[in-house]
Amino acid sequence: MSESVAASVTVYIALGANLGDARATVLEAMQSIAGLRATTLLRRSSLYGTAPLESTGPDYINAVVEVATGLSPHHLLHELQQLEQAAGRERPYRNAPRTLDLDILLFGDENLDSPTLVIPHPRMLARAFVLVPLAELAPLRVQLGQLQAVSAQLITRLSDF
Ligand code: AMP
Repeated sequence: MSESVAASVTVYIALGANLGDARATVLEAMQSIAGLRATTLLRRSSLYGTAPLESTGPDYINAVVEVATGLSPHHLLHELQQLEQAAGRERPYRNAPRTLDLDILLFGDENLDSPTLVIPHPRMLARAFVLVPLAELAPLRVQLGQLQAVSAQLITRLSDF
């Protein structure tokens, strides 16, 4: 079970999967994120279906979750990478199809630029599959022009969980 923490930060995490039962993988990952220590799952976006972008294989299932966490950005990244590993992710080459991909989009209002972690996520503005579910949860964190810039990318909101 997750514990509540006094000094928690609101964080947005993108989830994506396109191998195996991608929908089940994303839903399980949401539960795993909810179970991280010092972390509370606040809200989750709808699930979206998207065609692979700079990648190959079947369509992706994508979503974004909003969490409150007392973990540091790097600690949270480490925990998310553990979840990716547990989901059997392999990295044979860059942008290979993956079982589970977890990205930290926003960490409160922090700006970070370290060798292993860049926040806001450097590629989030190029991706409809990130911006659309993020806008569903946090419309004030996404500008209309940013959504318009990715509007050519096909993304389908799937009915419900
Ligand atoms: P990817 O293949 O897209 O999952 O990229 C994983 C790599 O991106 C990891 O080596 C991370 O250290 C790095 N990375 C940089 N910024 C972030 C971020 N905001 N969220 C997740 N991974 C990040």
